[in-house]
Amino acid sequence: MKKSLFILCFLCCLTLAACGTSGASSSGGSSSAGSGSGSSSQQEPEEPIPPEEPVFDLSSVQLVNYEGVVEHLFFHPVVAYPELAFDGDKQSNGIDDWMVTVDEYNKILSSLYANDYVLVDINQVWSESKDESGNPVMVRNELMVPEGKKPLILSFDDVNYYPYMLENGFTHKLIIGDNGQLWSYGKDPQGAEVISQDLDAVTILDKFVREHPDFSPYGAKGCLSLTGYCGILGYRTMTEKEDTSAAHEENRQREIEAVKPIIAELKRTGWTFGSHTWGHVNLTDRPLEVIQADTEKWMNEVGSLVGPTSILFYPHGARPDGDDWHQTGPKFQYLQSKGFRVFCSVGTESFSYIKKDICAVICDRLHPDGTTLRHSRDRYLKFYDAKDVMDVSVRPQREIDWQ
Ligand SMILES: [Zn+2]
Repeated sequence: MKKSLFILCFLCCLTLAACGTSGASSSGGSSSAGSGSGSSSQQEPEEPIPPEEPVFDLSSVQLVNYEGVVEHLFFHPVVAYPELAFDGDKQSNGIDDWMVTVDEYNKILSSLYANDYVLVDINQVWSESKDESGNPVMVRNELMVPEGKKPLILSFDDVNYYPYMLENGFTHKLIIGDNGQLWSYGKDPQGAEVISQDLDAVTILDKFVREHPDFSPYGAKGCLSLTGYCGILGYRTMTEKEDTSAAHEENRQREIEAVKPIIAELKRTGWTFGSHTWGHVNLTDRPLEVIQADTEKWMNEVGSLVGPTSILFYPHGARPDGDDWHQTGPKFQYLQSKGFRVFCSVGTESFSYIKKDICAVICDRLHPDGTTLRHSRDRYLKFYDAKDVMDVSVRPQREIDWQ
């Protein structure tokens, strides 16, 4: 049916370009650049203390149990500089397909807010319990939201700041700024360093929630879906088969230390983490042994930093075991045995299903991006109107279904 996504074998075909064994590391001395705001350098052991986040007053509203479908939208990193992203090079159409611009993202957030969505943490929606026979099962939790509001999960794939993104108008990494908050570091089209809270999906959402605490009654933000092959969050924390030198390892250890305060601040401000596999592995195509080795690597290099997670986001949206959500084959069983419970793909609706034969939830997500802005306006009208959102003037001149 609709759920079987003939959709796209997509997401980040772009990211499949390898991280690269040279030059990619540290992306031009990212450690030092990362402390460009004058904070969090190794010479300054004292981290600045961020201001308290505004908290929504739950006693000011009537809370009701929401029993309907929990909508789930996911984004890729957002385009900070369209003139670099859509410059006609070989990445332009891919970025047009799978990303939104900062301007579009801002409009989407405002529209979600205006349409009475409120953010919830994916980890709060389902949890593990036992059935009458004592077997582990997933259950949908009671989900209390302010009356009239609708819960919404946000997730963000490939928050790794891949080298191709650095050259194509995206921010380069998250950093801690002088005020202790998260900021992004990047370069404008003229090559000047820019530290901002207005150019990156994470810091933009943080700022939006600070300004509209009722958009996130419990302080939830989104779930960051991380691969490992280019490191995480802009820090080159990965091992590389081709470079086992002491210099690489030394740099890697520096990057690991540099990313720790970023992870801590993300967690403190409502962000959570999920796996997107270490190598952006296609779980439909790749054999079990590859998936096992990849999962171990993710646990060692990413899980060891962000902590345990029960959320798995399928790269390319490709499901294991024949790309069929009804199946519970050997790959699915293996992944479940490693602690994953919520298995997220991509679809044409926010579909979820609690599996009966194994303790797991299947969960499809919708994808605000160029393909759906151009071709799926109706399906997304409950969230926003593509006509109001799409930045037609900066995107490549390609087909649009609406006028
Ligand atoms: Zn991806």
